[in-house]
Amino acid sequence: MKDLAQEVNRRRTFAIISHPDAGKTTITEQLLLFSGAIREAGTVKAKGKKSNKFAKSDWMEIEQQRGISVTSSVMQVDYDGYQVNILDTPGHEDFSEDTYRTLMAVDAAVMVVDSGKGIEPQTKRLFEVVSHRGIPVFTFMNKLDRDGLEPLDLVAELEEVLGIDAYPMNWPMGMGRELLGLYDLYNQRVELRGKTSEDPETYIDLDESGDVPGDYDFKQSSVYTQAMEDAQLLHEAGNDFDLERIQQGKLTPVFFGSALTGFGVQTFFDAFVDLAPAPSTVELEDGRMLEPTAEEFSGFVFKIQANMNPAHRDRIAFIRISSGEFEKGMNVSLERTGKTMRLAHTTQFMADAREEVETAIAGDIIGLYDTGNLQIGDSIYEGREAIKFKPLPQFTPELFMKVTPKNVMKQKSFHKGIEQLVQEGAIQLYKTYHTEEYILGAVGQLQFEVFQHRLLHEYKAEVEMIPMGNKIARWVDPEAMEPNMSSSRNLLVKDIEGQPVFLFENSFAENWFKDKHPDVELYQLL
Ligand code: GDP
Repeated sequence: MKDLAQEVNRRRTFAIISHPDAGKTTITEQLLLFSGAIREAGTVKAKGKKSNKFAKSDWMEIEQQRGISVTSSVMQVDYDGYQVNILDTPGHEDFSEDTYRTLMAVDAAVMVVDSGKGIEPQTKRLFEVVSHRGIPVFTFMNKLDRDGLEPLDLVAELEEVLGIDAYPMNWPMGMGRELLGLYDLYNQRVELRGKTSEDPETYIDLDESGDVPGDYDFKQSSVYTQAMEDAQLLHEAGNDFDLERIQQGKLTPVFFGSALTGFGVQTFFDAFVDLAPAPSTVELEDGRMLEPTAEEFSGFVFKIQANMNPAHRDRIAFIRISSGEFEKGMNVSLERTGKTMRLAHTTQFMADAREEVETAIAGDIIGLYDTGNLQIGDSIYEGREAIKFKPLPQFTPELFMKVTPKNVMKQKSFHKGIEQLVQEGAIQLYKTYHTEEYILGAVGQLQFEVFQHRLLHEYKAEVEMIPMGNKIARWVDPEAMEPNMSSSRNLLVKDIEGQPVFLFENSFAENWFKDKHPDVELYQLL
């Protein structure tokens, strides 16, 4: 066996958070290129994507177009001596609670921002989920090859909208056609942009005054002097570089570049693997601390992918390994039931080959073929001493649907199906007061479609779904409830535990409620 500590230390497990179209796929492709997993960059998005009912993840498109094997959700590549695990967080049609849960299984996040647009809604929401965990966030301001917002404004907006301090690691010398390169404070050098994509970037070290020594034409350019001035201003007036604060997620290092032309991407990933943490100690449910280098294997289920093909009822349970080493065929205990299970059918996620996994270690992700034994949040472990990870958080649903069975004769299977799918974490269930109507809550539209599909194919229950649209769900203390609180602008429902929840039409309705009932506290899930 390889030295476990050494192996753990070279793991970097992260997710990319961004708003659709910011450049997540493009930057991932660059990482695959650098790591040698693919040979040629290109546009990986298939035409007619929208026509697919169940949108395939971008990775699958990479797989189809490049003829390489990349599973839909996790990729493992070698980068500069590091084992990098990238977890996909679907941002398009297949956005769901799984997207949020995936963020519970990473040690760091890369935030890709379109520098022409600034902080967009989905980036903000994903950031909030990541920020809750206190893990580091590395920002890449993308599309520098186009004219975008002023860099100073971008950084100010990031700090203001997300409430995190920023530390620019490099600074653009111009933008769009004027883009000359990067003034790189972190590496104390200037990185000149190549004229073509084959033309390599040129690096010139800065001298002590922060200027480039010698005679270069670009030094006459106003974008160079401007960048130098901005960078010096930031150096004096801005935040200090502080690795501890970066690792606690309180300070985000900001890099500029262009994923499409590959400019600044390598500089970004080099710093990322250097500064992002390896898998670290986790606190268990009972307060004990678990070291990733502990000899005994353990992990937790953060996502279950149901097979959409009715001919294959198996699912893949995604396990984040938290300690020790996984070996194919090993026996583990499932904490929830105390039962032993053999991990025989597993898959690992390599960018260059889809192989059955033989071994994997803390920080890695494995997929277990499962016929219904595992649930989201389950802990599995090797050895005698039970290991129970803290429960995964619940997320505030944003979309709602009324649901009724089409055939009253199938009430039983309808109820059984709903109960099991809710328990599995596929969807959230609410009921109206008195009339006990069923309302489903989700963070993404796809969850409803998957729910309907699975109910039909696995439970033979056909349902009618009536969309209620976006709502703001807010919990309220049952003691504080008064009859006059419910109105036409909100719908009062109860969650699966019977707790009262208001579904507000919009933030206007929420604020109106707060004005009317200033003493009533409204809560939300993560
Ligand atoms: P995703 O939805 O976040 O995965 O975004 P993609 O990587 O698919 O990029 C969305 C669009 O932006 C595509 O048309 C890309 O070619 C384009 N794009 C990505 N990065 C850049 C960039 O650095 N510069 C420019 N000009 N376009 C980019």
